[in-house]
Amino acid sequence: MAEQLDYLNYINGEWVGDSYKKIKVFNPATGEYIGSVPDADEEHAKQAIEAASQALPKWSKKSAADRSDVLRKYFDLIMTHENEIAEIMTKENGKPLKESKGEVQYAASFIEWYAEEGKRIYGRMIPGKRENHRIKVIKQSVGVVAAITPWNFPAAMITRKLGPALAAGCTFIVKPPEETPLTCMKLAELAEEAGIPKGVINVVNGNPEKFSETVMSDMRVRKLTFTGSTPVGKLLMKQGAEQVMKLSLELGGHAPVIVCDDADLDQTVEMLMAAKFRNSGQTCIAANRVYAQSGIYDELVRRMTAEVEKLNVGNGLEDGIDVGPLINKEGFEKVGRHVQDAQEKGARVTTGGEGQANTEKDTYFYMPTIIADSNHDMIIMNEETFGPILPIAKYDYDNEAVKAANDTPFGLAAYFFTQNVSRGTRISEGLEYGIVGWNDGIPSAAQAPFGGIKQSGFGREGGQEGIEEYLEVKYISLSV
Ligand code: NAD
Repeated sequence: MAEQLDYLNYINGEWVGDSYKKIKVFNPATGEYIGSVPDADEEHAKQAIEAASQALPKWSKKSAADRSDVLRKYFDLIMTHENEIAEIMTKENGKPLKESKGEVQYAASFIEWYAEEGKRIYGRMIPGKRENHRIKVIKQSVGVVAAITPWNFPAAMITRKLGPALAAGCTFIVKPPEETPLTCMKLAELAEEAGIPKGVINVVNGNPEKFSETVMSDMRVRKLTFTGSTPVGKLLMKQGAEQVMKLSLELGGHAPVIVCDDADLDQTVEMLMAAKFRNSGQTCIAANRVYAQSGIYDELVRRMTAEVEKLNVGNGLEDGIDVGPLINKEGFEKVGRHVQDAQEKGARVTTGGEGQANTEKDTYFYMPTIIADSNHDMIIMNEETFGPILPIAKYDYDNEAVKAANDTPFGLAAYFFTQNVSRGTRISEGLEYGIVGWNDGIPSAAQAPFGGIKQSGFGREGGQEGIEEYLEVKYISLSV
């Protein structure tokens, strides 16, 4: 791999934008410069819209099998370059290399799965209202799609949109995040190599506001799919109102975890460690707060503390590292505020509770932390933390825990642990969330409909539902 990754934007099959000033990308673990992309203005967004519009008729009319062949080739290429992509990802995002490899596999699985699912876009025939009347229902691609994605999963947040969009016959324009654009550029390079026709995928790095204003005011763009924070999601929803744009919003979360006294604690601890500490807790479905029943509360705190103390924090490129840095100073300061507030309100830090900031290098690590004796007066029990901090509160009755779990504007993911099927059924049905993990802390999969309710957004990524987001329904009323 080249020492520095200086990329241009990818529009209409060309690499463009050399004259723009650059968005510089730094390794959050070391502060080293690793590469750049253009800081483009609305001109590139306009060119990308034109390219995607030009490419649309041919791509959308291809047979599903032909689109599938190209997507399958793309999947194979991503997997062949798994190590290279993972290394870029770790350098720009900070997550440990083993996690980056896991993300590349997960990201690629959406290309593979939708390459097949695109062959199953069925319509139906409905008996008409007269003897000589028929109603035919067909599904067609929505058209040109624009996507805006976050830094925490630099590959997967793109392919979860790209896979179903392309399989449905849409053409695609993506604006990657400023913090981690290089993984996306590598994916664009591989798309070109896979033979995805020019204009079908376009990547525009640059000013986010100019990008969203441009794509949302052009009637040729029919859908915006966004993953990111709830405040930006709300802004985009307002902007989209002007042309009644079709939207999917994958926004913030604040996942609760209920641990019942009959839970298998070995399984619970293993799953909680994954649900909380991967990506340094910077995951939209990260376990954000635990409610442990009084019978197992002390034991769970003890076991989680012991497990967390085994984690190694550091540069994700080095062997044996489990937890990398936080993405930036703002993230680090937010984590510190949440911990301090909890301590001031009577919580007990059983391990961690401190950070290491190097302001010269601009690198920020926070020690994985367990906070016992937490309660709902604390910010950490009410807001998404996005860091390696796990507060644990005690509860007595299941309905009390479910009520506390639901007491939030968010509704993305929730988890609970019990061996009792009746109890588990009641809890799973009572939780107001789009995704519920029952004895499971890692629920995401290409074949499952990932997404939230309430202020965590709407729309689904993955599964049968995921491709519907990129299809319009039309019925043809026919007199024979
Ligand atoms: P963010 O909202 O700040 O940024 C996300 C993207 O939006 C970036 O590409 C950014 O450039 C762009 N953006 C920022 N301001 C914009 C504006 N005014 N107009 C148009 N685009 C704009 O979020 P983030 O900090 O990058 O990501 C973290 C958030 O994403 C967390 O809240 C997390 O929960 C959420 N997230 C949700 C999911 C999900 O599936 N629901 C998945 C991953 C992350």
